[in-house]
Amino acid sequence: MAIGLLGGTFDPIHIGHLRSAEEIRERFGLDRVIFIPAGHPPHKTRRQVLAARHRFAMARLAIAQNPAFAIDDLELRKPEPSYTIDTLRAFRRDHEATEIHFILGIDAFQEFATWNKYESIFTECNLVVTTRPQYTMKSLGEILPPEMAETFRLAQDPRGARFVHPCGTAVHIVAIAFLEISSTRIREAVRAGRSIRYLVPREVEQYITMHGLYRR
Ligand code: ATP
Ligand code: MG
Repeated sequence: MAIGLLGGTFDPIHIGHLRSAEEIRERFGLDRVIFIPAGHPPHKTRRQVLAARHRFAMARLAIAQNPAFAIDDLELRKPEPSYTIDTLRAFRRDHEATEIHFILGIDAFQEFATWNKYESIFTECNLVVTTRPQYTMKSLGEILPPEMAETFRLAQDPRGARFVHPCGTAVHIVAIAFLEISSTRIREAVRAGRSIRYLVPREVEQYITMHGLYRR
């Protein structure tokens, strides 16, 4: 089994998330991509995040039509903020023989060196870093301390740059469709009374309307 994990606040989930998951699933031959909504995102304390039950419900609606997509509420079941390393280890306990690809955008990867026990994340799973409009990255040295970046070996890979960690796992940098969509932009559009049609799945748009979300 090879699976992808896509963590996020998903406030709300949008087409950019779904397209990223689909392209990486296809390119890496993943059996499944599991979406993991964050309970209390450690990186998003500056603004009010929508209640987890709504974010989870929208993500579940968004992935329902894709048999290769699944959703896991393991971070929502805990009262305290979840760190990715803990999520990965919890996941590993239940899926021992599975090859894990943790998918994240360059914007998220740029903060990676501030993540809890990030060195251990490298040994726990593969990372797939996807392109995103307005974010660029040429080498690991831009993100990681130089002495750590130097331990990775650059390898040829038709899917994109592959940096191999001494333990055998890899960090892939992969170009995906540039979709200029963010949850921030969706929230702003709803607040301003503008259409979000075709930026989120129909079911998500309907859910937002039905529950009067993001109006203020
Ligand atoms: P916000 O604007 O509130 O920060 P967001 O659109 O960045 O929301 P998140 O839930 O923060 O969404 O993102 C979860 C993951 O999905 C992150 O790794 C992020 O980089 C990635 N991601 C989000 N939008 C896109 C996109 N349009 N293209 C590629 N990756 C994306
Ligand atoms: Mg974000």
